[in-house]
Amino acid sequence: MVAATTVEGAARSRFRRDAEAWLAENVSEYWRQHRGALEEAEETRIRAEWDRKLYQGGYAGLSLPVEYGGQGLGLAEEVAFGELAARAQAPDGLGRIGKILTAPTLIAHGTEYQKSTYLQPILSGEHVWCQGFSEPGSGSDLASVACSARRVDGGFLVRGTKTWTSFSRHSHRCLLLARSDESAPRYRNLSLLLLDMHASGVEISPIQQISGSRHFSETHFDDVFVAEEDLVGEEGEGWKMAMTVLANERGAVEGITRYVEIRADMDLLLECCSQPGEAMEQLESLNIRVEIVRTQVSKAVSRQDDEVAFLRSAMVLKVMWSELWQELTSLAAKLSCPVHRAHWRHQYLESRSATIYSGTSEIQRNIIAERVLGLPK
Ligand SMILES: Cc1cc2nc3c(=O)[nH]c(=O)nc-3n(C[C@H](O)[C@H](O)[C@H](O)COP(=O)(O)OP(=O)(O)OC[C@H]3O[C@@H](n4cnc5c(N)ncnc54)[C@H](O)[C@@H]3O)c2cc1C
Repeated sequence: MVAATTVEGAARSRFRRDAEAWLAENVSEYWRQHRGALEEAEETRIRAEWDRKLYQGGYAGLSLPVEYGGQGLGLAEEVAFGELAARAQAPDGLGRIGKILTAPTLIAHGTEYQKSTYLQPILSGEHVWCQGFSEPGSGSDLASVACSARRVDGGFLVRGTKTWTSFSRHSHRCLLLARSDESAPRYRNLSLLLLDMHASGVEISPIQQISGSRHFSETHFDDVFVAEEDLVGEEGEGWKMAMTVLANERGAVEGITRYVEIRADMDLLLECCSQPGEAMEQLESLNIRVEIVRTQVSKAVSRQDDEVAFLRSAMVLKVMWSELWQELTSLAAKLSCPVHRAHWRHQYLESRSATIYSGTSEIQRNIIAERVLGLPK
């Protein structure tokens, strides 16, 4: 047992060392200097190129099976690499939805055809994916989605509108939740489909965010055909599939990346306010909470083999880091550090969305109350 643990520990240390060296060699100084200030087309080019580099370097799909192009490692390596990449200020690849949401969902519920067709292009960076869940009238209450998938010969015709669809303009495929049965009861009337974003009937209207970024859009589907083989799970099982997608979205990999970003913001803020003053107590309290986020990531990773315990840790983690980041950037804006004003302005605006995407804080708290603490509805 001791020997096995030592071998495992040595392999982990080697993995970290190799990854650190690879990142030092591959994250360009140009990106480090100019990130956050690049033209959108240039940023998109760099992010797409990063996906290809990760694949060539053997760092895409670390926890996915080797037969589908992954590395056959575990969540611990995935999280370790996420932390090192964030520290090295590596670009966030365009393929994140494909890698974090689509790939694990297909591993859990996909057919052999779906796994062998879609996983490898996701990992190589050839195919970018988006997530078509939210609608103008359906966000927190995801089970009420109205976008319809009507049965036709050989598949479905999708009609309706999705909104806040991140990366849709660059996407080849969409992981789409649609209502496939008007008469079935709630939670049994949805299906998860793999929709071709280049098919006839797809129209995309970009939306500009308060931070200036234009990474999401409203996406319209006018009788877009989806073949039978692109249905994930059974027809009517969409809610169950969506829960797998959301569990991955709120998971430890996102948590660790955010931890590193928040840690860096915290260090910068401490640097800005090195004189003792009235904000010092607040800073110290925030500083401790940053490290509690790190502990919560480790807790989630240590529970990876117990699906329910993992989900509970991941849910608490999402609320922790998103609210902490907002408090931190609010304090930074209030203290108005003159040297890094542009940075804090950007982070303040960007952090506003963190308590909304992947499920709002209110919804997360409802779920924690009911499913983690067992409180009555
Ligand atoms: C940056 C960003 C990227 C996103 N990317 C995607 C994407 O790629 N794909 C996608 O499908 N979606 C995406 N979203 C959408 C996101 O998932 C939704 O915004 C979110 O689920 C909330 O839904 P909503 O905006 O419709 O708000 P609503 O559901 O209308 O909620 C409005 C307010 O009411 C509160 N509320 C609602 N119901 C309850 C309740 N039962 N109890 C207590 N409070 C409640 C909410 O917490 C919120 O404060 C993205 C959002 C953002 C901000």
